[in-house]
Amino acid sequence: MRHFKQSFIKCIRLYPVLALSLLAIIYLLGGFNTERAPVLPRFLLTGTLYLLVGVVPVVAIAGFITLSITEDRSRARGQRQLENLPQEDPFELAYEKMCGFKVVAITGESPIFTGITGDNYSSDDSAKCQQSPDHVPPVSNCECGFYAYKSRSDAEFELTMHPGLFLINVDLFGLGFAHKYGYRAESQRVNSVTIPRRCMRCKTLPAKIFVKSYKLGYGDGTWWQWSIRCLLCSKKVKAENTLTMSQMGQSLQVSIE
Ligand SMILES: [Zn+2]
Ligand SMILES: [Zn+2]
Repeated sequence: MRHFKQSFIKCIRLYPVLALSLLAIIYLLGGFNTERAPVLPRFLLTGTLYLLVGVVPVVAIAGFITLSITEDRSRARGQRQLENLPQEDPFELAYEKMCGFKVVAITGESPIFTGITGDNYSSDDSAKCQQSPDHVPPVSNCECGFYAYKSRSDAEFELTMHPGLFLINVDLFGLGFAHKYGYRAESQRVNSVTIPRRCMRCKTLPAKIFVKSYKLGYGDGTWWQWSIRCLLCSKKVKAENTLTMSQMGQSLQVSIE
């Protein structure tokens, strides 16, 4: 299901390219020229256009609705199974070395990692449970623990949906549960941060320097977020709000790749 979803979203991204190329082809075939007869019958050309602007988006919307319904169902099924299983069963205990990939934000006045769920952690940390303080994560019927994908491409795909975050490579230790796509474990060591090749602002020039900017959130949710920019996009940023790659590596105690 997950891989179907990934391919589906990849196809949707191709739609603008496909639409533009089709428009160009129809134009070249004389579909928009009223002076002379087009190369192909006009109904064929206009038919293709209707298909493009009418049918394809409807199919895409139907696809998204189906996906979200099946996801809700499988989540509910997963939850039921989780509740009915004996304590140790929801995942296999991992007996292999647990290395993986995940995406994080770099936040804070002095840089720290912030996971997608909002938990802060340093480069070498033990998980804490937000729901039950008496848990030593991971607990089988709870969500606590450090998560990581086994495959780099799964994490890279997630990164495309969260621009502004970074891909990190981690080792997990202690008690760990393994499932098909990843792990959930007790403690985590962040080995390296992979930085994008392009500037996160202009998306054009090579990324060179870390810049922190102030974000306003709900309530007391105001925070600093770090991004990486090119030299041009970081020109007007005050020096105290920037870090070079090696300074960032030292501050987070990880290697920057
Ligand atoms: Zn817990
Ligand atoms: Zn730039």
